[in-house]
Amino acid sequence: MVREKNSEFVCGECGFRYDTRVEAEACEAWCSEHKSCNLEITEKGRPPKEQ
Ligand SMILES: [Zn+2]
Repeated sequence: MVREKNSEFVCGECGFRYDTRVEAEACEAWCSEHKSCNLEITEKGRPPKEQ
């Protein structure tokens, strides 16, 4: 599930953070299907702050 946190949207799979829900949902759809990240998607986002 994409989570909204401090006006960022967080991929529920990999934790990358995005400015828009659309980007976060695209990331999560890719992550859950492929179990890996798509660089074209994650380059629009920011890595998780805390891990
Ligand atoms: Zn992701």
